Amino acid sequence: MSMPETGLRIRVFGDPVLRKKAPAVERINAQHRDLLSKMAQAMYAGSGVGLAAPQVGINHAMLVADIGEGLYKLINPKILKRQGRQVNQEGCLSVPEVCIKIRRANKILVQARDEEGQKIRIEAEGLLACVFQHEIDHLKGKLIVDYASFWKKLKIKRKLAELKKKAQDERVSQSEAKSCPLQL
Ligand code: ZN
Repeated sequence: MSMPETGLRIRVFGDPVLRKKAPAVERINAQHRDLLSKMAQAMYAGSGVGLAAPQVGINHAMLVADIGEGLYKLINPKILKRQGRQVNQEGCLSVPEVCIKIRRANKILVQARDEEGQKIRIEAEGLLACVFQHEIDHLKGKLIVDYASFWKKLKIKRKLAELKKKAQDERVSQSEAKSCPLQL
């Protein structure tokens, strides 16, 4: 999926960047701020509610999220506390046409830097907490498919093989990314 207006391309399953651990950003500068706003544009263009830097091929610990209550831009996010549980059918812009039921904490406390480099703390609950956990997984090289049960893994095996092939050819179209209501 390419985003000519931002110059960013959403990387799909099979692209090695999605499996790398994203190192922390040391000095936050204008380039990071520019990247965060381009990531937000790419997220909105893909009708996603969250996007992590590795998903656009950039190996930095940065994410954007917007569940309709305002845009978050987080650098070096870390979960300090987890509480309760929720289960959602999650899709991923990087794993188009796949939906996986995932159990996560319902409430989390996240510490991060904002785009000015200030330390911030956010208490998130429900969907926003789900989105942050999904995106922070991306920064660790973890994907929704890693949560699939044995049977689900068998079921999506062929789909993933197709995606892997497409990832090499860069042939994934934007329309394919919308089969799961929650795209992260
Ligand atoms: Zn994702």
